[in-house]
Order: sequence, then structure tokens, then C-alpha cells
Amino acid sequence: MARSAAANSTEQQHREMEASSRQAAWYAKATAYHPLLPARQLSRADEVKLHRLRLGYRTLEELRDDFESRQCDHCGHLARHPLRHYLLSCPATAQLRQQIGGPEDDEDRAALVLRRALEDLPRLLVVVRSAPPPR
Ligand SMILES: [Zn+2]
Repeated sequence: MARSAAANSTEQQHREMEASSRQAAWYAKATAYHPLLPARQLSRADEVKLHRLRLGYRTLEELRDDFESRQCDHCGHLARHPLRHYLLSCPATAQLRQQIGGPEDDEDRAALVLRRALEDLPRLLVVVRSAPPPR
């Protein structure tokens, strides 16, 4: 039992590290380390939504071992990667994707969509208010 507890704890640590390095990689790609502009201009609700995107948070379902897909709140699509779906293909966020092309990798492309969207904060806020990111 002790051995199993130790193994679980190692696995837990590994998963936490993996989650935080994945999140750090996303943050670097999606924000280029640019700070969010003056927080005082944002409502708390808007700030929470933007942080969720900037940090690339996974949804609660995705943290489960048996996670396969999650139904999008906005279009009903079953997404294996809810945040990528939200940024790359959800009709609810179509106006964020004006430039086509970019990196081959879906995760990189999603981060680039967000990075460009962050450059036009008023437009991004309109989108996240009407169609909040997956959580
Ligand atoms: Zn959708």
C-alpha cells in the first residue's frame, strides 16, 4: 500500500509538472510575455476570462483520466481539445480568425490566434462576453 501511495504521489507530481510546463509553454506562445493591459480597465469577469485564455487552462473534464471529449457550450461540437476548438474552429469565435494560415501544429495555431486576438482587446472582449471560453 505504501508503495502504491508513493507511486501515486510520483505520478501526481509528474502530472502537476507536466501541466505547469504545458501551461508555461502556452503562456509564452499566446502572450509573448506581454502583460495584460491595465487591469483596472477590466471588470473582474472579463479579467477572469482573459486569464483563462492566456494561461491555457484545461477544463475540469480534461483533467480526468477517462476524458475523451467535451461538448462545446456554443456549437455542440464534441472537442478532444476544447480550448483549441474554441480558438480554431468554433463558429462563436469566428471573428477572431481573420488571418488564415500560420503554424501546422494546432496548439501553435491556437496560441497564435489568441496572440493576435489579444492585440485587439475590445474585439476579443466582445467575443468572450458573448461566448465565454470553455471551463
Ligand atoms: Zn464550439
